[in-house]
Amino acid sequence: MTAPLRLRGAALLDTATGESSRRDLGVRDGVVVEVADVGNAPEIDVSGLTGLFGLWDCHTHPGGLMYDPAGTGYTEGAPARTIRAGNNLLQAAGMGVTGIRAVDEPDEIDLAWGAAFAAGAPPGPRVLGAGRGIRTTGGHGTAWPRTYTRLDNEIVVDGPAALARAVRGQVERGAQWIKIMLTGGLYSEHETVDGVQFTDAELRTVMEVANQRGIPVAAHCGGADAAIRFAELGGRSVEHGYALDERAAKALTAAGTWLVPTLSVTHDVALMERDGWPPHAMNRAKASAAAHADALRACIEAGVRVATGADLNPIGPRLHAELAILEGAGMERLAVLHAATAGGRALNGCGEASTPLPGSAADLIFLEGDPLADPAVLSRPRHVVAHGRLLAMDGGAPASTRAGP
Ligand SMILES: [Zn+2]
Repeated sequence: MTAPLRLRGAALLDTATGESSRRDLGVRDGVVVEVADVGNAPEIDVSGLTGLFGLWDCHTHPGGLMYDPAGTGYTEGAPARTIRAGNNLLQAAGMGVTGIRAVDEPDEIDLAWGAAFAAGAPPGPRVLGAGRGIRTTGGHGTAWPRTYTRLDNEIVVDGPAALARAVRGQVERGAQWIKIMLTGGLYSEHETVDGVQFTDAELRTVMEVANQRGIPVAAHCGGADAAIRFAELGGRSVEHGYALDERAAKALTAAGTWLVPTLSVTHDVALMERDGWPPHAMNRAKASAAAHADALRACIEAGVRVATGADLNPIGPRLHAELAILEGAGMERLAVLHAATAGGRALNGCGEASTPLPGSAADLIFLEGDPLADPAVLSRPRHVVAHGRLLAMDGGAPASTRAGP
C-alpha cells in the first residue's frame, strides 16, 4: 500500500503522436487511476508542467566501473559496490530515469535494489535485473586486465547442460531477465564484435529453458547471423547490434525481437578517453561506429522496436547523452522519446500505453517545458513518481543523493 496521489493540471504528452492534453490523474497502489478514485488524497499542483512516462535505461550495470583505471574495484567487495550502485540508481531517478533494466551485475545487487525500491524502502526507480550475466569460457566480459576476485561476477559455463543449470539457477535467484554474451564486443581483447561465442546447441538450450520458464532473454549480440538465430529462437532483445544488416533487421521485426542500440559505446570518444579505455577497445569502438549507426537505421527502416540504454555510468547523465546521440544518428526526436519511455515500458512488461492512462504503472515525470522543443528539460524534472510514489526532490536529484556515484 502506498499513499494515493492527486496530480492536477499537467499537459500529458503522448509519445506516439507528440500531442498533449490537459488531464488530472490519480495514483493509487502504484497504478494510474481516475482522479475521482483517489478521494481526498493530497493534491500536487502540476499545472503548467508537461507530464509523461518516465525514462528507461534498458542496458545498465549499476555498479559497473568500466575499465576502472584507478583500480577502485580491486579494493571493493559487494557491500561497497551495492552502496555505490544504489546511489547511481537514485541519482538516475532524480534525472527522470524511473525505469532501469540491469543486464549483468555481480552478487545480485540489481535484484536487491529492485526489491527494496519496489517495497518503498527506500523509494526509488523500478529496477528489473538479470543478476549475473552468462557467458562461455574466454567469451565477452573476460576481464581486462583481471577479475575482481571479491565479487561473484558473470557465470562462466560451457555446454548445454551447464547452460541449462545456469539459466535455472538465475530463475531460482529471482532474476527477471536472462542476459547472455552471445557474441564478442568491445570490452575484451580476444574477440570481434560479431564473432559468435555459443554453439547452436548451447544457444538452443538457453532459449528452450528460458522460454519454458517464461523468462525473457537479452543477448549481447553484435553480429547479424547471431541476431537472426537468437530472434528465431524467441530472443526478446538484441543488445548493441553493432553489425546488424537489413536481413537481420527483417528477422527481428518478424520475430518481435527488440533492439537496445547503446550507440554511446561506439560514438562517445571523449568518454572513452576520460574513462581510460584500453587501445583494443577504443580502436574497435571507433572502427565499429559507422556500421553501428547504419545498423540502427536499418532496424528503424524495417520497423524493429527500439528501447534505449546507455551501458555507461553514471546512468542518469549517460542515458541523456545516449538520447542525443540517437537523434544525431538520424532517429526522429519524437521516436527517441517514445523509445526511451513507452519503449522501455513495453519491453519490460509495463504495458503498451504511450501516455499515462488509468491502469498504467505509475512511473511519471513532470517537466518545466516541452521536451520535444528542448530535450534538456528531460534531465531536470520538477517531480518524479516511481512505483506510484512521489520521490523527494531537491534541485534536480532526490534530496539524499545529490552527490551521485
Ligand atoms: Zn553492457
